[in-house]
Amino acid sequence: NCQRIDDAFQRWTTIQAQAPALFEGGRIVSYGELDALVDAGVRRLAEAGVRPGDRVLLVGENSIALAACILAASRAGAWSATVNARLSEREILNFIEHSGARRALYFNDGSPSAAAHGNARGAQRVRWDGIGELMLGPLNDAAIPEPAAADPARQVAAMVYTSGTTGAPKAVMLSHANLLYVAANSVRMRQITPDDVVYGVLPFSHVYGLSTVLIGSLLGGASVYLEARYQPAGLAHALAERGISVMHGAPAMYAKLFEWSETGGTPLRFPRLRVAQSGGAPLTQPLKQAFENTFGIRLQNGYGMTEASPSICQTRMDAPRDDCSVGMPIPGIEVTLHGADTSEDGTGELWLRGPNVMQGYYRAPELTADTITPDGWLRTGDLARMDPDGAFFIVGRSKELIIRSGFNVYPIEVEQVLNAYPGVVQSAVVGRAVEGNEEVVAFIEPVSGTAIDLARLRDYLRANLSPYKVPSHLIVLDQLPAAATGKVLKKELQQRAAALSG
Ligand code: ATP
Ligand code: MG
Repeated sequence: NCQRIDDAFQRWTTIQAQAPALFEGGRIVSYGELDALVDAGVRRLAEAGVRPGDRVLLVGENSIALAACILAASRAGAWSATVNARLSEREILNFIEHSGARRALYFNDGSPSAAAHGNARGAQRVRWDGIGELMLGPLNDAAIPEPAAADPARQVAAMVYTSGTTGAPKAVMLSHANLLYVAANSVRMRQITPDDVVYGVLPFSHVYGLSTVLIGSLLGGASVYLEARYQPAGLAHALAERGISVMHGAPAMYAKLFEWSETGGTPLRFPRLRVAQSGGAPLTQPLKQAFENTFGIRLQNGYGMTEASPSICQTRMDAPRDDCSVGMPIPGIEVTLHGADTSEDGTGELWLRGPNVMQGYYRAPELTADTITPDGWLRTGDLARMDPDGAFFIVGRSKELIIRSGFNVYPIEVEQVLNAYPGVVQSAVVGRAVEGNEEVVAFIEPVSGTAIDLARLRDYLRANLSPYKVPSHLIVLDQLPAAATGKVLKKELQQRAAALSG
């Protein structure tokens, strides 16, 4: 019964001090060693001037050092704010300024991107015992610690940035209780035990990687196989040789695994895989089917958002589904479809209330008030509908809804059809304003080395979609712009679409 995220693994340090907690390449850190690393991190952070209530910016990619320092910041009473080293210099600078961080740490070991950011910010190379080499940014004398929350359940543990799919990333304050609730839920729903090896490529800078993958695995006594960057060959190797039993990823990760395996990669082997989870972006029918045919186990689907730590809906292991529903709300939360009673097709904006709802956006009280109602409902901005059996389907973001000649076009529906076309790895559909109307623009990522015949694709779309849903533009890109989680960055594609001529 732990109160803080750095307590999540405490019981295992006595029950199984020798058992592996984290794997990184050939290195193994046991539960006992992890506890010692976190204590060492607490001492080093204090020497670096970090006080309780300070924000500590951690710039890195998944590694033992990063995991230990996230937990150490928590044990020191500070707020961790982990950001992906692959972001641009401008973005990192924005995060440093916005967070008012006392110190920034750059996890340069194994990450040239983090090293480049550290160098640009005048960070000094240091060696922290056990943890290894990292770079320490200059002390911010002006940083003011945040006071401790009056209610311990609301004490912030981490600041987590949203993916920035629709605009600039927002800084979400998540409490210890928020993160532990979702982590404990993951342990229960997936029956995580010390026998599990969890694939840990989802970045700890994103809430899914932080709460479900890192904290959820440690809470269950499992071990996490860390990987800094997703490569299909890396996942195939981990499945075949490193005993992965639980894997998490965005749909794009699985699509790319199949593409790799079909275009010259090795046949997939997965002797210990028992749970496969997709989340963070819409799952499509062909991918789910291909997955289940290949792996012989169900691909579970989940829906969430940073502001909900992230889990909201989840398919159940004991109630497999053949469709792409995101399942039922996780236990202990309330979900309602706002406006569904007055809409024609029962679609409404999904609102939720419960112990996973964030403490607010940092330094943005108006935005917080726009997002959480006075009686505690989080407005997701996602449109959804519910089956009579209580399972939810995500229809799309209200912001991304395209209104073509007065008709609603949901990008997800068009993407589903595009993704089912042979040779398409993934697609992204956005709107484009033209003379009082909106056009549908589709970006398509083909299997590498495959040429897509656009005239035939257009015929196929006409045969499978109502005329107003057929994209006016089909644009093939070698790779869709994506965040480290594999989520497509739609705002970039909207800009490209807006710049189209004709
Ligand atoms: P930003 O808020 O900065 O624009 P973002 O909303 O993409 O970025 P996240 O919090 O990482 O940032 O993502 C949450 C969103 O992802 C949800 O609001 C929803 O639109 C989408 N999403 C998550 N899981 C699913 C899913 N299984 N199916 C469909 N959409 C999903
Ligand atoms: Mg969002």
